[in-house]
Amino acid sequence: MSQESFVIDLRALARDGRLVQGEVPVTRLGRLAGSVLEPSGTVVFSFQGERDDEGKLYVDVHIQVGLALECQRCLGALEWPCDVQNRLLLLRSGDPLPEDELENDAVDALEVEPLTDLLALVEDEVLLALPLVPRHDDCEPPVKTGVDEETSPFAVLRQLRGKV
Ligand SMILES: [Zn+2]
Repeated sequence: MSQESFVIDLRALARDGRLVQGEVPVTRLGRLAGSVLEPSGTVVFSFQGERDDEGKLYVDVHIQVGLALECQRCLGALEWPCDVQNRLLLLRSGDPLPEDELENDAVDALEVEPLTDLLALVEDEVLLALPLVPRHDDCEPPVKTGVDEETSPFAVLRQLRGKV
């Protein structure tokens, strides 16, 4: 298993218009691994830097992973293809949020430290994308074990009547 580090200067990546690609097993992302039914699969990600004409720094994030979630209706495994695409505007800590960008839903502002752990960022993005209540489109709740005739309210009632 590769333990390659993905801690980089995200602003430099954007300034130079560089691309970083990588993949890590879900098991390496602890918070995500704890949020899924089975921590299987591989997270594939890419960060494409971009500097626009005004000198603003952006990173286009693309993350893909097939996750095994727990269906909240039948409690079975639910294959959930995660595909996150997000455009991040990089800000220095303390920078004011540009208002025109806040009105633009397609862009999220991200305050970046000199070094950014891409894996933590990937994990955050995937966790944010997880459905709150994962469910199969078409499934049934688990079948409850049959009601025991002897303990059903009607059986109890019959016993009481019998005793009167
Ligand atoms: Zn289900």
